[in-house]
Amino acid sequence: MTELKVLEGKKLTVIGYGSQGHAHTLNLKDLGMDLTVGLREGSKSWEEAEKAGVKVKKISEAVKDADVVMFLTPDEAQPAVYENHVKDNLKEGAYLGFAHGFNIHYKKIVPAGKVNVFMVAPKGPGHMVREIFEKGHGVPCLTAVYQDISGDTKEVADAWANGVGRKVGIIETTFKEETETDLFGEQAVLCGGVTELMQAGFDTLVEAGYNPEVAYFECVHEMKLIIDMVYEKGFAKMRDSISNTAEYGDYVTGKKIITDKTRETMKQVLGDIQNGQFAKEFIDETETGYKFMKGERSKYSDSKIEEVGSKMRQMVFKGSAKNHM
Ligand code: NDP
Ligand code: MG
Ligand code: MG
Repeated sequence: MTELKVLEGKKLTVIGYGSQGHAHTLNLKDLGMDLTVGLREGSKSWEEAEKAGVKVKKISEAVKDADVVMFLTPDEAQPAVYENHVKDNLKEGAYLGFAHGFNIHYKKIVPAGKVNVFMVAPKGPGHMVREIFEKGHGVPCLTAVYQDISGDTKEVADAWANGVGRKVGIIETTFKEETETDLFGEQAVLCGGVTELMQAGFDTLVEAGYNPEVAYFECVHEMKLIIDMVYEKGFAKMRDSISNTAEYGDYVTGKKIITDKTRETMKQVLGDIQNGQFAKEFIDETETGYKFMKGERSKYSDSKIEEVGSKMRQMVFKGSAKNHM
C-alpha cells in the first residue's frame, strides 16, 4: 500500500499484546511491516505473541532501536511503564503513539521534547479491529498529533491508521477531543447509560410481576436489533421499520425517560471529565487495587438479569452457535 510508505524501512514497536496490541501488530505484520512487540518477561502475552510468529523483546529492548513506538498497555499501567522502560530508551526523533489520549491529555505522561507524539484510535474493540481486517475490511480510526518535531508526524499517524484500519477512513481530532468525547460516550451513553437503561426497564417489569424472560427479551435482547437498524440506516429508517404504535410511544415516552434533568446530569458528567475530576477518581480507584470495580463486578455477575440472560442466550444461540452478544 502506497499509504504505508512512510513506515517502510522503519523499525516499529508495539508495547502490549492485548486487545488493541494484537490487532495493531498482526494487521501491520500482514501488510509486510517490520514489527517487534515489547512485553514484560514471562507473561502470558509473550507466549501468545511468539505463537503468532511475532518478534518479542523486553519493553526496554524493544523501544531502544525503534523509530515508531505504539503504546498499547492499559491506560493505568502506562505512566509507570513509561517511566521505567520507555522514557530513557526512546531515541531522538522517535514517534510515540497512543490509541487513547488519556495519559497525554491529563499529563500523566509528559514526553520529552525530543520525540513526536501521535494517536491512532481505532473506533472499535481490538478483537473486532482484527476480525474485520481478516475479512478484508477495516474500521475507521481517529488520528491526532500532539507533538511534531520531525515535521511528518501526521503522515506517520495516517499511515499507521491506514494499515491497522485498512484505509477505511480517518477522522482527524485532537488528544483533548478524543479523550473527553471517548470518556463521555462510554460513561453517559454506550456503557453506563445503556446498561442502566436496560437494567431499569427490566427491573420495572419484573417488579410489576411480569415474566423475567419476557422482560429480558423486551428490554435487553431486542436492543441489538433496534441498534443494528440505527447503525445501518439511521433513526428515521429504524422508525420506518417499527410499528406506528412503537413509533408513537417512542416520541412521547423517550423524553419522559431522558428528561431535562438527565441532560443536566450529562453536562455535569462532561464537566467532571473536562476538569480532570473523573480521571483523578479513576486513578485513585486503580491505586486501591480496583476495590470498587471488583465489588460491582461480583454484584452484577450474581444478578437476576444475568441469570435470565444466560438462559436466553442458550435458547437463542442453541448453546453452540457463536455468541455475538
Ligand atoms: P489490554 O488490557 O488488552 O492490554 C494488555 C496488554 O498490556 C498485555 O499484553 C499485557 O501484558 C500488557 N500489560 C498490562 N499491564 C502491564 C504492565 N504493567 N507492564 C507491562 N505490560 C503490561 O489493553 P487495551 O488493548 O484494552 O488498551 C490499550 C490501549 O488502547 C489503551 O490506551 C486503551 O484506552 C486503548 N483503546 C482500547 C480499546 C479496546 O478495544 N480495548 C479501544 C480503543 C482504544 P501481560 O501479559 O504482561 O499482562
Ligand atoms: Mg474508551
Ligand atoms: Mg416490542
